[in-house]
Amino acid sequence: MAQPATAVIGAGVVGCLVARELAARDPEVSITVFDRDAVGAGASRRSAGLHLPRGATPRTRRMSAFSHAYYADLKLRRPDVPIQPIGATVITDRARGDRLVGRYLDLATPTPVGSVPNHAVFLPEGSRAWRIAGCHYADVYQLAQAIAAELRPRARFLEGVAVTGLGSSGGAVTVYAGTGERFVADFVVLAPGPWLSVPAWQDRVAPLGLRVKKVVALHIEQRPDPTDEAVVFDTDDAFLLPLVHRGHWLFSYSCHEWDVDPDGLTAGLSPADIGAARACLRRYSPTLADACGAGRVFCDAYSPDGEPLVRPLDGTGRIVFAGAANGSGYRLGPAIGSEVVDLLRLHTGSAGPSGSGPRGSGGSPPQGAALGNAVPPGLAPRSEGATGDHQYV
Ligand SMILES: Cc1cc2nc3c(=O)[nH]c(=O)nc-3n(C[C@H](O)[C@H](O)[C@H](O)COP(=O)(O)OP(=O)(O)OC[C@H]3O[C@@H](n4cnc5c(N)ncnc54)[C@H](O)[C@@H]3O)c2cc1C
Repeated sequence: MAQPATAVIGAGVVGCLVARELAARDPEVSITVFDRDAVGAGASRRSAGLHLPRGATPRTRRMSAFSHAYYADLKLRRPDVPIQPIGATVITDRARGDRLVGRYLDLATPTPVGSVPNHAVFLPEGSRAWRIAGCHYADVYQLAQAIAAELRPRARFLEGVAVTGLGSSGGAVTVYAGTGERFVADFVVLAPGPWLSVPAWQDRVAPLGLRVKKVVALHIEQRPDPTDEAVVFDTDDAFLLPLVHRGHWLFSYSCHEWDVDPDGLTAGLSPADIGAARACLRRYSPTLADACGAGRVFCDAYSPDGEPLVRPLDGTGRIVFAGAANGSGYRLGPAIGSEVVDLLRLHTGSAGPSGSGPRGSGGSPPQGAALGNAVPPGLAPRSEGATGDHQYV
């Protein structure tokens, strides 16, 4: 019987980043990552992968700053990772005030501009355009695979191995696998993306009040130019993104279909999805709205207060939930990973705040961009002013 010290359940971008952070902070810890499917094959595979340097609450702004620096560092160390810097313009509604102030990080340096660089996009009456810096987008599926490849064999990735049960006793957690095997772990990090209702953890997760929302992005079959930029429609919680590596545009809008089952989303786009997307985009670009006819449909886990959740699920702190990033699991993933390891170290009584421990060569999250964990981050009091029903916090 194998005995991993830490088991990570779910090899999406969050699980992979948790594993990378564990490996970086403790060269000795043994790591096993379980996924019933393949690395990155859940919500991460469908992700638009847009990173915007912003956050609706103080904690998500801290997390965004941390993740921003983390990805910059990763790209510096590994120029081959599928992360592309991109220019972006944000369109705001004058009637709703300067909503960028305080929500975007200082590094975004929002600057008013007279027009949108994309000729197909109009500035509606009463709106204003801002150039922002510090954005990028990633192929999240490929990135998760690249992280897993980097970590192997330091971490074991058990693909095609579903976790069917979790038992906690005697200072350890037993992970029951669909293969019939059992694994004993000192700690388990549960990073299941939108699979919240799996019998193995449903009862532990239910008190967190998480919900699963459908997330839809439309594809526009027009080849973007490498110099094309993203346009963010602030009041609509939507964006237009040139996916140069795939040869088409993507339009992401805010879908409000709740309590969906990730395993039930097999029917593709519905007429309602297409209609809602076109109605949203038509205000800015009738041409592109008419061209929306394909896309990607999946879902993500959302938290009650609009902030990602990093929280112990049992009294001993040996099982920790990580995720529910409200449609922002890519861009806040590194900070989630960091908070998880902070929490585990706290429970083991190991030394040091974020970043102070020994680091492996595999990963080095930025120092100094610390999350400022005066209190355990996952246990931090809920912030005022968080948005409840937003696709992107
Ligand atoms: C269309 C779309 C567009 C998006 N765009 C953006 C964006 O632009 N920017 C952004 O930041 N975020 C975006 N997101 C959100 C982001 O993709 C997610 O928040 C993120 O991928 C979640 O990662 P995760 O690792 O938590 O979950 P997942 O990637 O879903 O990983 C969870 C893993 O758990 C595994 N699993 C489930 N059950 C079991 C089991 N019983 N045993 C073992 N393994 C199991 C699954 O197979 C899966 O691989 C988007 C999401 C969608 C759907």
